[in-house]
Amino acid sequence: MKQKKLLEVHQNNSVKISVRREWCKSCGICIEFCPKDVLVPDDQLKPIPENIDACIKCGLCELRCPDFAITVEGVEEKDE
Ligand code: SF4
Ligand code: SF4
Repeated sequence: MKQKKLLEVHQNNSVKISVRREWCKSCGICIEFCPKDVLVPDDQLKPIPENIDACIKCGLCELRCPDFAITVEGVEEKDE
């Protein structure tokens, strides 16, 4: 069976959300506290930033995670 990557990174042109799956204990706090319903639980109840475009970079998920398993970083828009 193919294992999921230990560090899952999801990014759009404004925000990067990383989930360190080995540290996540599937408590669901980040999912519960996200005011924009960005995060949804996967089959192991670990957060997937499925609605990343709705993220307002409030940082609550990162702040509330007891295991430092989720991080949110702003992405600078580049002029091409
Ligand atoms: S930074 Fe805020 S809006 Fe974005 S995923 Fe985390 S809790 Fe949700
Ligand atoms: S709050 Fe942290 S440990 Fe809990 S489900 Fe979210 S990422 Fe995993």
